[in-house]
Amino acid sequence: MIYLDNAATTRVAPEVFEAMAPFLQDEYGNPSSIYALAGRSAAAMETARRALADFIGAEPDEIIFTGGGSEADNLAIKGTMRKWPDGHMITSAIEHHAVLHTCKALRDEGYELTIVGVDQSGLVDPDEVREAIQPETRLISIMHSNNEVGTIQSIEEIAQIAREAEVRLHTDAVQSLGKVPLDVDELGVDMMALSAHKVHGPKGVGALYIRKGFRPESLIHGGGQERRLRAGTENVPGIVGFGRAVELLAQQGEETAERVRSLRDRLIQGITGAIDEVALSGHPTRRLPNIASFLFRYVEGEGILLSLDMHDIAASSGSACTSGSLDPSHVLLAMGYSHEAAHGSLRLSLSRYTTDEEIDTVLEVLPPIIQRLRDMSPLYPG
Ligand SMILES: *Cc1c(COP(=O)(O)O)cnc(C)c1O
Repeated sequence: MIYLDNAATTRVAPEVFEAMAPFLQDEYGNPSSIYALAGRSAAAMETARRALADFIGAEPDEIIFTGGGSEADNLAIKGTMRKWPDGHMITSAIEHHAVLHTCKALRDEGYELTIVGVDQSGLVDPDEVREAIQPETRLISIMHSNNEVGTIQSIEEIAQIAREAEVRLHTDAVQSLGKVPLDVDELGVDMMALSAHKVHGPKGVGALYIRKGFRPESLIHGGGQERRLRAGTENVPGIVGFGRAVELLAQQGEETAERVRSLRDRLIQGITGAIDEVALSGHPTRRLPNIASFLFRYVEGEGILLSLDMHDIAASSGSACTSGSLDPSHVLLAMGYSHEAAHGSLRLSLSRYTTDEEIDTVLEVLPPIIQRLRDMSPLYPG
């Protein structure tokens, strides 16, 4: 099969699986216990913590392992806001639901929320963030890169604004990890959410970077694990797998990144060259190297996905009815596209395992799929 849905999840790298296996079998010690078996679990976890810290320019004690990217976002947002019950927060309209729904849930509890919009390329205007800041603003949460269209925000500039106003900045960098450089000091962020399963690690494990000197409220109470910020016996195999996945990212050379980028560019050129009335969504240059997202007029994204599936090609659409509703993507709507336009979306997301031949196949089968779907559409002028 051809897997082009790497923004949804990725295959576990063989090296990651190998690193995890002992911790699912013989190395089952609880890292909090004191005998040698437990010590080996604790040591493996700290190796993973250091690998992740090194990769993002942080210190190991600034990394809190969580049960995934969503939990890291929740810890950053709820954990910060609950320190200031009268607080105000700022986020953007194109955030992943792990951020947007969390902020809206806090608003329902009585917190104040401002949601800034984006332009047609999916970019937040840092000046709009500046203007949204109020005396009670405690947190700004703006994603590093978008999971649907790949647009990369001006986080450094927003961080500068946050710093001047003495407001903390959280960024959801789940899609950016391993795709573009992420250095917490260069970015100037106070918190950053990451997830293992988007980088060929296991599902259900993530991390929150928290800059030294700040301490959000814990959301899960119990034991003292993770500096008392995340109670519960640690997911040792998952954390070890995450660490190994990050080591692989650190080892992967510039050639890998270049190769993925050029495959993506070939997809974009091939598709926009062979098909009429198609637009690339997202920013033309400020975009992730592995995401190509399109809007096809006169077709439904669902139809494209089903047809691709018959060719054993896995992709994704912003119009996918994720929650049983047929609402189009909130991201595309926020970018100013109509409901009709947003319904024709297709996201192809690559990984380091994507091959030239796979791209050739997609470029061969997609144009006739679009033509066939359009021929069936009453709206298509032909
Ligand atoms: C996948 C994703 C998440 C959620 O991460 P999980 O580990 O699946 O909870 C959050 N934000 C973005 C941008 C994502 O792409």
